Amino acid sequence: MPVPATCRMNIGGKWIESVASTTEPVFNPSDGSIIARTPLCEASEIDQAVQAAKRAYPAWAETPAVDRARILFRYTHLLEQHFEELAQLVTREHGKTPVEARGSVRRGIEVVEFACGIPSLMMGESAEQIASGIDCDSIRQPLGVCAGITPFNFPAMVPMWMYPVAIACGNTFVMKPSEKVPLTAIRLTELLYEAGLPDGVMNLIHGGVDAVNALCTHPDIAAVSFVGSSPVAKHVYTTATSHGKRVQAAGGAKNFMVILPDADPAYTVEALIGSAYGCAGERCMAGSVAVAVDGAGDRVLPILLEALDDMKVGPTDRSPVSAMGPVVTRGHLDKVHGYIEQGLAAGATLYRDGRTVRVPEAPEGFYLGPTIFDDASTEMSIVREEIFGPVLSVIRTGDLGAAIDACNGSGFGNAAVLFTNDGGAAREFRHRISAGMVGINVGVPAPMAFFPFSGWNNSFFGDLHVQGKEGIQFYTRQKVTMSRWSWKDHSRG
Ligand code: NAD
Repeated sequence: MPVPATCRMNIGGKWIESVASTTEPVFNPSDGSIIARTPLCEASEIDQAVQAAKRAYPAWAETPAVDRARILFRYTHLLEQHFEELAQLVTREHGKTPVEARGSVRRGIEVVEFACGIPSLMMGESAEQIASGIDCDSIRQPLGVCAGITPFNFPAMVPMWMYPVAIACGNTFVMKPSEKVPLTAIRLTELLYEAGLPDGVMNLIHGGVDAVNALCTHPDIAAVSFVGSSPVAKHVYTTATSHGKRVQAAGGAKNFMVILPDADPAYTVEALIGSAYGCAGERCMAGSVAVAVDGAGDRVLPILLEALDDMKVGPTDRSPVSAMGPVVTRGHLDKVHGYIEQGLAAGATLYRDGRTVRVPEAPEGFYLGPTIFDDASTEMSIVREEIFGPVLSVIRTGDLGAAIDACNGSGFGNAAVLFTNDGGAAREFRHRISAGMVGINVGVPAPMAFFPFSGWNNSFFGDLHVQGKEGIQFYTRQKVTMSRWSWKDHSRG
Protein backbone atom coordinates (compact mmCIF):
# COMPACT_ATOMS: atom_id res chain seq x y z
CA MET A 1 0.00 0.00 0.00
CA PRO A 2 1.45 3.45 -0.89
CA VAL A 3 2.02 5.76 2.08
CA PRO A 4 -0.72 8.44 2.07
CA ALA A 5 0.66 11.85 1.10
CA THR A 6 0.66 14.71 3.58
CA CYS A 7 -1.34 17.69 2.29
CA ARG A 8 0.57 20.80 1.28
CA MET A 9 -0.16 24.37 2.26
CA ASN A 10 -0.35 27.29 -0.15
CA ILE A 11 1.47 30.34 1.12
CA GLY A 12 1.87 33.33 -1.18
CA GLY A 13 0.88 31.28 -4.23
CA LYS A 14 3.48 28.53 -3.61
CA TRP A 15 2.71 24.95 -2.57
CA ILE A 16 4.80 24.14 0.50
CA GLU A 17 5.26 21.10 2.75
CA SER A 18 4.41 21.84 6.37
CA VAL A 19 7.06 21.24 9.02
CA ALA A 20 4.33 20.12 11.46
CA SER A 21 5.24 17.09 13.53
CA THR A 22 1.60 16.05 13.97
CA THR A 23 -0.79 14.91 11.26
CA GLU A 24 -4.38 13.64 11.19
CA PRO A 25 -5.61 10.90 8.86
CA VAL A 26 -8.03 11.66 6.02
CA PHE A 27 -10.29 8.67 5.34
CA ASN A 28 -12.24 7.40 2.39
CA PRO A 29 -15.36 6.72 4.50
CA SER A 30 -16.67 4.25 1.92
CA ASP A 31 -13.98 1.69 2.80
CA GLY A 32 -12.25 3.13 5.87
CA SER A 33 -8.86 3.46 4.13
CA ILE A 34 -6.50 6.36 4.87
CA ILE A 35 -6.11 8.40 1.67
CA ALA A 36 -4.03 11.36 2.90
CA ARG A 37 -2.76 13.04 6.04
CA THR A 38 -3.50 16.58 7.21
CA PRO A 39 -0.62 18.40 8.90
CA LEU A 40 -1.56 20.40 11.98
CA CYS A 41 0.36 23.48 10.86
CA GLU A 42 2.67 25.28 13.26
CA ALA A 43 1.80 28.77 14.52
CA SER A 44 4.77 30.16 12.55
CA GLU A 45 3.33 28.71 9.31
CA ILE A 46 -0.05 30.27 9.98
CA ASP A 47 1.70 33.58 10.55
CA GLN A 48 3.58 33.17 7.24
CA ALA A 49 0.24 32.67 5.45
CA VAL A 50 -1.24 35.77 7.09
CA GLN A 51 1.87 37.81 6.20
CA ALA A 52 1.67 36.64 2.57
CA ALA A 53 -1.99 37.72 2.48
CA LYS A 54 -1.07 41.04 4.08
CA ARG A 55 1.63 41.71 1.47
CA ALA A 56 -0.73 40.87 -1.38
CA TYR A 57 -3.54 43.05 -0.03
CA PRO A 58 -2.63 46.61 -1.19
CA ALA A 59 -2.23 45.71 -4.86
CA TRP A 60 -5.29 43.44 -4.88
CA ALA A 61 -7.47 46.03 -3.16
CA GLU A 62 -6.40 48.58 -5.82
CA THR A 63 -7.15 46.16 -8.68
CA PRO A 64 -10.33 47.41 -10.43
CA ALA A 65 -13.39 45.34 -9.59
CA VAL A 66 -13.90 44.44 -13.27
CA ASP A 67 -10.40 42.90 -13.37
CA ARG A 68 -11.05 40.94 -10.16
CA ALA A 69 -14.31 39.75 -11.72
CA ARG A 70 -12.50 38.63 -14.89
CA ILE A 71 -10.38 36.24 -12.82
CA LEU A 72 -13.54 34.88 -11.22
CA PHE A 73 -15.14 34.41 -14.65
CA ARG A 74 -12.07 32.36 -15.69
CA TYR A 75 -12.41 30.46 -12.40
CA THR A 76 -16.04 29.51 -13.17
CA HIS A 77 -14.89 28.09 -16.53
CA LEU A 78 -12.21 26.01 -14.81
CA LEU A 79 -14.65 24.83 -12.16
CA GLU A 80 -17.03 23.69 -14.92
CA GLN A 81 -14.20 21.92 -16.75
CA HIS A 82 -13.20 20.11 -13.54
CA PHE A 83 -16.74 19.70 -12.22
CA GLU A 84 -16.78 15.89 -12.23
CA GLU A 85 -13.28 15.67 -10.75
CA LEU A 86 -14.28 18.00 -7.89
CA ALA A 87 -17.46 16.02 -7.22
CA GLN A 88 -15.43 12.80 -7.11
CA LEU A 89 -13.03 14.35 -4.61
CA VAL A 90 -15.99 15.30 -2.39
CA THR A 91 -17.29 11.73 -2.59
CA ARG A 92 -13.86 10.29 -1.88
CA GLU A 93 -13.05 12.25 1.26
CA HIS A 94 -16.57 12.81 2.57
CA GLY A 95 -18.67 9.88 1.36
CA LYS A 96 -21.52 11.77 -0.33
CA THR A 97 -23.21 10.00 -3.23
CA PRO A 98 -22.16 11.34 -6.66
CA VAL A 99 -25.53 13.07 -7.01
CA GLU A 100 -25.13 14.79 -3.62
CA ALA A 101 -21.50 15.67 -4.35
CA ARG A 102 -22.39 17.20 -7.73
CA GLY A 103 -25.22 19.17 -6.14
CA SER A 104 -22.87 20.61 -3.53
CA VAL A 105 -20.22 21.60 -6.10
CA ARG A 106 -22.95 23.22 -8.19
CA ARG A 107 -24.08 25.29 -5.19
CA GLY A 108 -20.47 26.39 -4.66
CA ILE A 109 -20.06 27.43 -8.30
CA GLU A 110 -23.24 29.48 -8.02
CA VAL A 111 -21.53 31.58 -5.33
CA VAL A 112 -18.60 32.24 -7.70
CA GLU A 113 -21.10 33.21 -10.42
CA PHE A 114 -22.73 35.58 -7.96
CA ALA A 115 -19.34 37.06 -7.03
CA CYS A 116 -18.61 37.72 -10.74
CA GLY A 117 -21.18 40.54 -10.43
CA ILE A 118 -18.91 42.38 -8.00
CA PRO A 119 -18.62 45.64 -9.98
CA SER A 120 -22.31 46.31 -9.45
CA LEU A 121 -22.63 44.43 -6.13
CA MET A 122 -20.13 46.83 -4.54
CA MET A 123 -21.83 49.98 -5.79
CA GLY A 124 -22.77 52.52 -3.17
CA GLU A 125 -25.48 55.15 -3.00
CA SER A 126 -25.51 58.87 -3.66
CA ALA A 127 -27.79 61.83 -3.16
CA GLU A 128 -27.43 65.35 -4.51
CA GLN A 129 -28.10 68.56 -2.58
CA ILE A 130 -28.71 66.94 0.81
CA ALA A 131 -28.00 70.39 2.24
CA SER A 132 -27.30 73.64 0.50
CA GLY A 133 -24.40 72.95 -1.92
CA ILE A 134 -23.66 69.55 -0.37
CA ASP A 135 -23.80 66.14 -2.08
CA CYS A 136 -23.38 62.83 -0.28
CA ASP A 137 -22.27 59.39 -1.46
CA SER A 138 -21.28 56.06 0.01
CA ILE A 139 -18.70 53.61 -1.34
CA ARG A 140 -17.70 50.13 -0.17
CA GLN A 141 -14.07 49.21 0.46
CA PRO A 142 -12.48 45.86 1.41
CA LEU A 143 -11.41 45.04 4.97
CA GLY A 144 -7.91 43.55 4.57
CA VAL A 145 -6.90 39.95 5.36
CA CYS A 146 -9.91 37.70 5.99
CA ALA A 147 -9.86 34.11 7.31
CA GLY A 148 -12.21 31.20 6.65
CA ILE A 149 -12.66 28.13 8.88
CA THR A 150 -14.91 25.36 7.58
CA PRO A 151 -16.56 22.08 8.72
CA PHE A 152 -16.25 18.59 7.25
CA ASN A 153 -19.70 18.16 5.79
CA PHE A 154 -19.43 20.27 2.62
CA PRO A 155 -15.78 20.16 1.45
CA ALA A 156 -16.45 22.35 -1.63
CA MET A 157 -19.61 24.34 -0.99
CA VAL A 158 -18.89 25.84 2.44
CA PRO A 159 -15.37 27.11 1.61
CA MET A 160 -16.93 28.54 -1.56
CA TRP A 161 -19.43 30.50 0.53
CA MET A 162 -16.44 32.49 1.73
CA TYR A 163 -13.29 33.05 -0.34
CA PRO A 164 -14.89 33.90 -3.75
CA VAL A 165 -16.93 36.72 -2.20
CA ALA A 166 -14.12 37.95 0.06
CA ILE A 167 -11.64 38.03 -2.83
CA ALA A 168 -14.15 39.61 -5.21
CA CYS A 169 -14.56 42.45 -2.71
CA GLY A 170 -10.78 43.10 -2.80
CA ASN A 171 -9.73 41.28 0.37
CA THR A 172 -7.01 38.66 0.59
CA PHE A 173 -7.74 35.35 2.27
CA VAL A 174 -6.40 32.60 4.54
CA MET A 175 -8.45 29.42 4.36
CA LYS A 176 -8.41 26.59 6.91
CA PRO A 177 -10.57 23.70 5.75
CA SER A 178 -11.67 20.91 8.07
CA GLU A 179 -8.75 18.61 8.84
CA LYS A 180 -11.09 15.71 7.95
CA VAL A 181 -11.61 16.86 4.31
CA PRO A 182 -8.68 19.00 3.07
CA LEU A 183 -8.36 17.55 -0.46
CA THR A 184 -11.19 19.39 -2.23
CA ALA A 185 -10.04 22.74 -0.79
CA ILE A 186 -6.54 22.08 -2.18
CA ARG A 187 -7.91 21.47 -5.68
CA LEU A 188 -10.16 24.54 -5.47
CA THR A 189 -7.11 26.65 -4.57
CA GLU A 190 -5.02 25.18 -7.42
CA LEU A 191 -7.76 26.10 -9.90
CA LEU A 192 -8.02 29.60 -8.47
CA TYR A 193 -4.33 30.20 -9.17
CA GLU A 194 -4.72 28.61 -12.61
CA ALA A 195 -7.40 31.25 -13.26
CA GLY A 196 -4.72 33.94 -12.84
CA LEU A 197 -5.08 35.02 -9.22
CA PRO A 198 -2.04 37.06 -8.11
CA ASP A 199 0.24 35.33 -5.59
CA GLY A 200 -0.80 35.65 -1.96
CA VAL A 201 -4.43 36.65 -2.55
CA MET A 202 -5.52 33.15 -1.47
CA ASN A 203 -3.57 31.13 1.10
CA LEU A 204 -4.39 27.65 2.39
CA ILE A 205 -3.30 26.26 5.73
CA HIS A 206 -4.25 23.11 7.62
CA GLY A 207 -4.94 22.24 11.22
CA GLY A 208 -7.51 21.97 13.97
CA VAL A 209 -8.10 23.74 17.29
CA ASP A 210 -4.69 25.46 17.51
CA ALA A 211 -4.87 26.76 13.94
CA VAL A 212 -8.37 28.14 14.58
CA ASN A 213 -7.26 29.89 17.75
CA ALA A 214 -4.19 31.31 16.00
CA LEU A 215 -6.42 32.80 13.26
CA CYS A 216 -8.96 34.19 15.75
CA THR A 217 -6.28 36.03 17.71
CA HIS A 218 -3.91 37.09 14.91
CA PRO A 219 -3.49 40.89 14.92
CA ASP A 220 -3.30 41.12 11.11
CA ILE A 221 -6.63 39.42 10.41
CA ALA A 222 -9.57 41.79 9.97
CA ALA A 223 -12.46 39.34 9.70
CA VAL A 224 -13.24 35.67 10.35
CA SER A 225 -15.89 33.55 8.62
CA PHE A 226 -16.67 30.32 10.47
CA VAL A 227 -19.02 27.42 9.83
CA GLY A 228 -19.17 24.43 12.19
CA SER A 229 -20.83 23.20 15.38
CA SER A 230 -22.50 25.68 17.76
CA PRO A 231 -20.06 25.44 20.69
CA VAL A 232 -17.10 26.10 18.39
CA ALA A 233 -19.01 28.84 16.51
CA LYS A 234 -19.68 30.58 19.81
CA HIS A 235 -16.04 30.20 20.87
CA VAL A 236 -14.80 31.59 17.53
CA TYR A 237 -17.25 34.49 17.73
CA THR A 238 -16.27 35.39 21.30
CA THR A 239 -12.53 34.99 20.76
CA ALA A 240 -12.24 36.74 17.41
CA THR A 241 -14.56 39.65 18.30
CA SER A 242 -12.65 40.19 21.54
CA HIS A 243 -9.55 40.50 19.34
CA GLY A 244 -11.20 43.25 17.32
CA LYS A 245 -12.35 41.22 14.33
CA ARG A 246 -15.58 41.21 12.39
CA VAL A 247 -17.06 37.71 12.67
CA GLN A 248 -19.79 35.65 11.04
CA ALA A 249 -20.04 32.25 12.74
CA ALA A 250 -22.65 29.74 11.56
CA GLY A 251 -23.30 26.92 14.02
CA GLY A 252 -25.14 23.63 14.30
CA ALA A 253 -28.83 22.91 13.93
CA LYS A 254 -31.82 20.83 14.92
CA ASN A 255 -34.37 21.32 12.18
CA PHE A 256 -38.01 20.41 12.78
CA MET A 257 -40.37 19.36 9.99
CA VAL A 258 -44.05 19.81 10.87
CA ILE A 259 -46.60 17.67 9.02
CA LEU A 260 -50.25 18.72 9.01
CA PRO A 261 -52.97 16.12 8.35
CA ASP A 262 -53.81 17.72 4.97
CA ALA A 263 -50.26 17.29 3.59
CA ASP A 264 -49.92 15.00 0.58
CA PRO A 265 -48.52 11.76 2.11
CA ALA A 266 -46.48 10.50 -0.85
CA TYR A 267 -44.87 13.89 -1.53
CA THR A 268 -44.22 14.46 2.18
CA VAL A 269 -42.49 11.09 2.57
CA GLU A 270 -40.23 11.78 -0.41
CA ALA A 271 -39.29 15.18 1.03
CA LEU A 272 -38.78 13.77 4.55
CA ILE A 273 -36.41 11.11 3.23
CA GLY A 274 -34.39 13.64 1.24
CA SER A 275 -34.13 15.95 4.21
CA ALA A 276 -33.46 13.44 7.02
CA TYR A 277 -31.27 10.93 5.19
CA GLY A 278 -29.68 12.93 2.33
CA CYS A 279 -25.90 13.24 2.82
CA ALA A 280 -26.35 10.58 5.55
CA GLY A 281 -27.92 13.27 7.74
CA GLU A 282 -24.64 15.23 7.84
CA ARG A 283 -26.22 18.51 6.80
CA CYS A 284 -26.94 21.64 8.82
CA MET A 285 -30.24 21.78 6.91
CA ALA A 286 -31.16 18.15 7.63
CA GLY A 287 -34.64 17.74 9.06
CA SER A 288 -34.00 15.52 12.05
CA VAL A 289 -37.30 15.85 13.92
CA ALA A 290 -40.71 15.21 12.30
CA VAL A 291 -43.62 16.75 14.22
CA ALA A 292 -46.78 14.92 13.19
CA VAL A 293 -49.90 16.96 13.97
CA ASP A 294 -53.25 15.40 14.78
CA GLY A 295 -53.08 12.00 13.09
CA ALA A 296 -50.66 13.00 10.30
CA GLY A 297 -48.18 10.44 11.67
CA ASP A 298 -50.52 7.53 11.02
CA ARG A 299 -50.91 8.60 7.38
CA VAL A 300 -47.24 9.21 6.70
CA LEU A 301 -45.26 6.75 8.83
CA PRO A 302 -46.33 3.47 7.17
CA ILE A 303 -45.31 4.83 3.73
CA LEU A 304 -42.05 6.18 5.17
CA LEU A 305 -41.10 2.86 6.80
CA GLU A 306 -41.79 0.96 3.58
CA ALA A 307 -39.61 3.38 1.59
CA LEU A 308 -36.74 3.04 4.08
CA ASP A 309 -36.73 -0.73 3.58
CA ASP A 310 -35.78 -0.11 -0.07
CA MET A 311 -32.95 2.34 0.66
CA LYS A 312 -29.61 0.81 -0.32
CA VAL A 313 -26.79 1.83 2.00
CA GLY A 314 -23.22 1.29 0.87
CA PRO A 315 -20.15 2.67 -0.91
CA THR A 316 -20.53 5.83 -2.96
CA ASP A 317 -17.16 5.73 -4.73
CA ARG A 318 -17.86 2.77 -7.03
CA SER A 319 -20.75 1.32 -8.98
CA PRO A 320 -23.43 0.42 -8.45
CA VAL A 321 -23.79 3.61 -6.45
CA SER A 322 -25.73 3.41 -3.20
CA ALA A 323 -28.68 5.63 -2.28
CA MET A 324 -27.06 6.56 1.03
CA GLY A 325 -23.36 6.62 1.83
CA PRO A 326 -21.28 6.33 5.00
CA VAL A 327 -20.73 8.94 7.71
CA VAL A 328 -17.40 10.72 7.74
CA THR A 329 -15.32 8.81 10.33
CA ARG A 330 -15.57 5.89 12.72
CA GLY A 331 -15.48 8.33 15.64
CA HIS A 332 -18.53 10.11 14.24
CA LEU A 333 -20.29 6.77 13.67
CA ASP A 334 -19.73 5.88 17.33
CA LYS A 335 -21.18 9.23 18.39
CA VAL A 336 -24.35 8.63 16.36
CA HIS A 337 -24.64 5.08 17.81
CA GLY A 338 -24.47 6.72 21.25
CA TYR A 339 -27.51 8.88 20.43
CA ILE A 340 -29.49 5.81 19.31
CA GLU A 341 -28.73 4.20 22.68
CA GLN A 342 -29.83 7.39 24.48
CA GLY A 343 -33.11 7.42 22.52
CA LEU A 344 -33.82 3.83 23.50
CA ALA A 345 -32.95 4.47 27.14
CA ALA A 346 -35.28 7.51 27.18
CA GLY A 347 -38.20 5.34 26.00
CA ALA A 348 -38.59 6.31 22.33
CA THR A 349 -39.82 3.54 20.00
CA LEU A 350 -37.13 2.44 17.54
CA TYR A 351 -38.91 1.47 14.30
CA ARG A 352 -35.78 1.08 12.16
CA ASP A 353 -32.33 0.56 13.69
CA GLY A 354 -29.63 1.58 11.22
CA ARG A 355 -26.98 -0.18 13.30
CA THR A 356 -28.13 -3.49 11.86
CA VAL A 357 -27.05 -2.54 8.33
CA ARG A 358 -24.32 -4.72 6.81
CA VAL A 359 -22.19 -3.78 3.79
CA PRO A 360 -20.26 -6.94 2.84
CA GLU A 361 -18.52 -5.29 -0.13
CA ALA A 362 -16.92 -2.67 2.17
CA PRO A 363 -16.87 -4.04 5.71
CA GLU A 364 -14.46 -1.36 7.00
CA GLY A 365 -16.65 1.57 5.80
CA PHE A 366 -18.45 3.84 8.31
CA TYR A 367 -22.04 2.82 7.63
CA LEU A 368 -25.30 3.37 9.44
CA GLY A 369 -28.67 2.67 7.89
CA PRO A 370 -31.66 5.02 8.06
CA THR A 371 -32.88 5.08 11.65
CA ILE A 372 -36.27 6.23 12.91
CA PHE A 373 -37.70 6.76 16.38
CA ASP A 374 -41.37 7.31 17.12
CA ASP A 375 -42.94 8.57 20.39
CA ALA A 376 -40.01 10.91 20.98
CA SER A 377 -40.44 14.02 23.13
CA THR A 378 -38.81 17.42 23.43
CA GLU A 379 -36.97 16.44 26.63
CA MET A 380 -35.04 13.62 24.93
CA SER A 381 -31.48 14.22 23.72
CA ILE A 382 -32.41 12.77 20.29
CA VAL A 383 -34.79 15.75 19.88
CA ARG A 384 -32.81 18.42 21.75
CA GLU A 385 -29.31 17.83 20.38
CA GLU A 386 -27.79 17.77 16.91
CA ILE A 387 -27.01 14.14 16.01
CA PHE A 388 -25.67 14.83 12.50
CA GLY A 389 -26.40 11.34 11.20
CA PRO A 390 -29.26 9.48 9.49
CA VAL A 391 -31.57 9.48 12.53
CA LEU A 392 -35.12 10.89 12.38
CA SER A 393 -37.18 11.31 15.55
CA VAL A 394 -40.97 11.63 15.36
CA ILE A 395 -42.95 13.55 17.95
CA ARG A 396 -46.73 13.92 17.91
CA THR A 397 -48.75 17.00 18.79
CA GLY A 398 -52.43 17.92 18.79
CA ASP A 399 -52.28 21.15 16.79
CA LEU A 400 -50.07 23.50 14.81
CA GLY A 401 -49.57 25.84 17.78
CA ALA A 402 -48.08 23.02 19.90
CA ALA A 403 -45.89 22.00 16.94
CA ILE A 404 -44.56 25.56 16.56
CA ASP A 405 -43.87 25.71 20.31
CA ALA A 406 -41.90 22.44 20.06
CA CYS A 407 -39.77 23.85 17.20
CA ASN A 408 -39.20 27.18 18.92
CA GLY A 409 -38.12 25.47 22.14
CA SER A 410 -35.11 23.85 20.48
CA GLY A 411 -32.75 26.81 20.96
CA PHE A 412 -31.36 26.36 17.44
CA GLY A 413 -32.83 28.32 14.54
CA ASN A 414 -31.40 27.20 11.24
CA ALA A 415 -34.35 25.76 9.34
CA ALA A 416 -37.97 24.79 9.96
CA VAL A 417 -40.30 23.11 7.52
CA LEU A 418 -44.08 22.76 7.19
CA PHE A 419 -45.92 20.29 4.95
CA THR A 420 -49.50 21.38 4.30
CA ASN A 421 -52.09 22.37 1.71
CA ASP A 422 -53.46 25.13 3.92
CA GLY A 423 -52.19 28.60 2.99
CA GLY A 424 -53.37 30.11 6.28
CA ALA A 425 -51.42 27.53 8.28
CA ALA A 426 -48.36 28.19 6.11
CA ARG A 427 -48.67 31.92 6.73
CA GLU A 428 -48.99 31.46 10.49
CA PHE A 429 -46.00 29.08 10.52
CA ARG A 430 -43.77 31.47 8.59
CA HIS A 431 -44.70 34.34 10.90
CA ARG A 432 -44.34 32.55 14.25
CA ILE A 433 -41.43 30.20 13.70
CA SER A 434 -38.11 31.15 15.31
CA ALA A 435 -35.78 30.08 12.51
CA GLY A 436 -33.98 31.95 9.77
CA MET A 437 -34.75 29.56 6.87
CA VAL A 438 -38.29 28.30 6.36
CA GLY A 439 -39.54 25.62 4.00
CA ILE A 440 -43.20 25.40 3.00
CA ASN A 441 -43.48 22.00 1.30
CA VAL A 442 -39.69 22.20 0.77
CA GLY A 443 -37.70 19.70 2.83
CA VAL A 444 -34.29 21.41 2.55
CA PRO A 445 -34.90 25.17 2.28
CA ALA A 446 -31.24 26.07 1.62
CA PRO A 447 -31.15 29.54 0.02
CA MET A 448 -29.42 30.08 -3.33
CA ALA A 449 -26.22 32.14 -3.60
CA PHE A 450 -28.03 35.47 -4.01
CA PHE A 451 -29.94 35.09 -0.69
CA PRO A 452 -28.25 34.97 2.73
CA PHE A 453 -27.82 31.60 4.47
CA SER A 454 -29.76 32.88 7.41
CA GLY A 455 -29.47 30.89 10.67
CA TRP A 456 -30.88 32.36 13.91
CA ASN A 457 -30.45 31.77 17.67
CA ASN A 458 -27.77 29.17 18.53
CA SER A 459 -27.33 28.42 14.84
CA PHE A 460 -25.60 31.75 14.15
CA PHE A 461 -23.36 34.19 15.99
CA GLY A 462 -22.85 37.57 14.36
CA ASP A 463 -24.89 40.01 12.29
CA LEU A 464 -24.16 39.47 8.61
CA HIS A 465 -24.61 35.98 7.15
CA VAL A 466 -22.76 34.32 4.28
CA GLN A 467 -24.09 34.62 0.69
CA GLY A 468 -26.13 37.32 -0.99
CA LYS A 469 -25.89 41.03 -0.22
CA GLU A 470 -25.08 40.27 3.42
CA GLY A 471 -21.95 38.46 2.22
CA ILE A 472 -20.86 41.60 0.34
CA GLN A 473 -21.65 43.75 3.37
CA PHE A 474 -19.65 41.42 5.63
CA TYR A 475 -16.50 41.62 3.50
CA THR A 476 -16.63 45.40 2.96
CA ARG A 477 -17.01 48.57 4.99
CA GLN A 478 -18.76 51.72 3.95
CA LYS A 479 -17.34 55.16 3.58
CA VAL A 480 -19.75 58.06 3.34
CA THR A 481 -18.46 61.28 1.80
CA MET A 482 -20.12 64.69 1.99
CA SER A 483 -18.84 67.15 -0.62
CA ARG A 484 -19.38 70.85 -0.87
CA TRP A 485 -18.31 72.64 -4.03
CA SER A 486 -19.27 76.14 -4.93
CA TRP A 487 -19.72 76.84 -8.59
CA LYS A 488 -19.68 79.92 -10.74
CA ASP A 489 -22.32 80.23 -13.37
CA HIS A 490 -20.73 78.51 -16.40
CA SER A 491 -23.67 78.94 -18.67
CA ARG A 492 -23.18 81.31 -21.58
CA GLY A 493 -25.57 83.69 -22.97
P1 NAD B 1 -16.67 21.41 14.15
O1 NAD B 1 -17.24 22.53 14.91
O2 NAD B 1 -16.16 20.22 14.88
O3 NAD B 1 -15.42 21.91 13.25
C1 NAD B 1 -15.53 23.05 12.43
C2 NAD B 1 -14.16 23.70 12.30
O4 NAD B 1 -13.72 24.11 13.60
C3 NAD B 1 -13.10 22.76 11.75
O5 NAD B 1 -12.31 23.48 10.84
C4 NAD B 1 -12.31 22.33 12.98
O6 NAD B 1 -10.96 22.13 12.70
C5 NAD B 1 -12.49 23.48 13.95
N1 NAD B 1 -12.61 23.08 15.36
C6 NAD B 1 -13.15 21.92 15.84
N2 NAD B 1 -13.15 21.93 17.19
C7 NAD B 1 -12.62 23.12 17.57
C8 NAD B 1 -12.36 23.72 18.85
N3 NAD B 1 -12.64 23.09 19.98
N4 NAD B 1 -11.79 24.94 18.87
C9 NAD B 1 -11.50 25.60 17.71
N5 NAD B 1 -11.73 25.06 16.48
C10 NAD B 1 -12.28 23.85 16.41
O7 NAD B 1 -17.75 20.98 13.05
P2 NAD B 1 -17.71 19.73 12.08
O8 NAD B 1 -17.96 18.50 12.89
O9 NAD B 1 -16.52 19.78 11.20
O10 NAD B 1 -18.97 20.04 11.15
C11 NAD B 1 -20.28 19.75 11.50
C12 NAD B 1 -20.98 20.93 12.13
O11 NAD B 1 -21.01 22.04 11.24
C13 NAD B 1 -22.44 20.63 12.45
O12 NAD B 1 -22.72 21.15 13.73
C14 NAD B 1 -23.20 21.37 11.37
O13 NAD B 1 -24.52 21.71 11.72
C15 NAD B 1 -22.34 22.57 11.20
N6 NAD B 1 -22.61 23.23 9.93
C16 NAD B 1 -23.33 24.39 9.97
C17 NAD B 1 -23.65 25.03 8.79
C18 NAD B 1 -24.46 26.29 8.84
O14 NAD B 1 -24.61 26.95 7.82
N7 NAD B 1 -25.02 26.68 9.97
C19 NAD B 1 -23.24 24.50 7.57
C20 NAD B 1 -22.49 23.32 7.57
C21 NAD B 1 -22.19 22.69 8.77
